[in-house]
Amino acid sequence: MSCYKGKYTDELIATANYIGTPGKGILAADESTGTIGKRLSSINVENVESNRRALRELLFTTPGALECLSGVILFEETLYQKSAAGKLFVDVLKEGGVIPGIKVDKGTVELPGTNGETTTQGLDGLAQRCQQYYAAGARFAKWRAVLKIGPNEPSQLAINENANGLARYAIICQQNGLVPIVEPEILVDGCHDIEKCADVTERVLAAVYKALNDHHVLLEGTLLKPNMVTPGSEAPKVAPEVIAEYTVRALQRTMPAAVPAVVFLSGGQSEEEATRNLNAMNRLKTKKPWSLTFSFGRALQQSTLKAWAGKEENIPKAQAAFLSRCKGNSDATLGKYEGGASLGEGASESLHVKDYKY
Ligand code: 13P
Repeated sequence: MSCYKGKYTDELIATANYIGTPGKGILAADESTGTIGKRLSSINVENVESNRRALRELLFTTPGALECLSGVILFEETLYQKSAAGKLFVDVLKEGGVIPGIKVDKGTVELPGTNGETTTQGLDGLAQRCQQYYAAGARFAKWRAVLKIGPNEPSQLAINENANGLARYAIICQQNGLVPIVEPEILVDGCHDIEKCADVTERVLAAVYKALNDHHVLLEGTLLKPNMVTPGSEAPKVAPEVIAEYTVRALQRTMPAAVPAVVFLSGGQSEEEATRNLNAMNRLKTKKPWSLTFSFGRALQQSTLKAWAGKEENIPKAQAAFLSRCKGNSDATLGKYEGGASLGEGASESLHVKDYKY
C-alpha cells in the first residue's frame, strides 16, 4: 500500500514509538478554555489566563512526574505560554524528556437529521496550523471524534463521517510532521451492557482503520486513543479483568499491529478505576502487539485539582497527588500497579459528565 512517505517519515515513526515507551504515557492537559473553566469553577477558581497558567505549571513542574510521561497534550494557549520563571512550557517539557502535543480539532457540531450525533470540525487551514505548531515545538496532535451509543446509534452516517474526518486529519498532520493521535471516543453515556460497547467499538475501529488505509496514512506514525470497553454509565459495573478482556479483544479484532501504541482516554472513569483497568489489560496474557498506555485528562488531574483549590500554599499537596497518579499509571502500563495511588480526596469519585466536551 502506498502510504505517506516524505521528509517526516522517520521522525513520525520515532515520535510514535517514543510516546508508546512502556512505563510512560500521556497527560491530556488540552482542555479548551471553556472546558478548563468548568474544571476551575468546580474548585471556585476564576477562569482567567493566570489561573490556567498556574494549574498547568503546577502539573508540568511536579518533581518526578515527567519521568512517568512521554507526552503532554496542550491547548494552543499553553503551547505559547511561559512558566512564572519565564521559561516556555514547551521547553520545560522537552528538558524533562516529554514531547509536547497539541489539540488541533475545533470541537463538534451536530449532524442534521440524526439523534444528536456529531462530527468534528477543524480541517480548514489545518495544514498551516500544523506547520505553526511544529515550529513552536509540537510533534504530535490530537483530534477528538465523538460517537454515542443509543437504540439506533451510532448511525452509519456518524461512523463514516467521523472515520473519514479522522483520516483526513491524520494525513494532514503527517504531511506536516505531527504524529496524529486518532481518537474515536465512544461515550460511556447510557444503560447498555459491555457486549454492546464491544460491538460498537469494533464497528467503529474497523471503519476508522479502513479510512486511514484508504487515505494512505502511515500507521507506524500514528497512535490510537480509544475508549476502554465498559458497560454504560447507568449500567452495573464489571471487574477490571472483564474490561481488560473485552477491550483487548476489540483491539485484536480491528487494530493493525503496525500501530505502535494505544493511549486510552479515561472517559469519566474515576482515577482509580482508570488505573486499575489499564493495569488489568497489561496483566492479561494474550496477543498484544502494541503497547497499552494512558492519555488521561480527568483521571490524572482530579485529586490534584481538589488538593490545589487555587491556593499557593496547597501546591506541594497537589503535586504529591499528581505524582502519585502518574506513578500509579506508569506502573499500570507494566501491569505492576498494586493500588495505593490515591492521595487525598477524589480518587474514587466518578468523573462522568454527560455528553462531555473537550
Ligand atoms: P479524559 O481522560 O478526561 O477522557 O480525556 C482525555 C482526552 O484527551 C479526551 O479527548
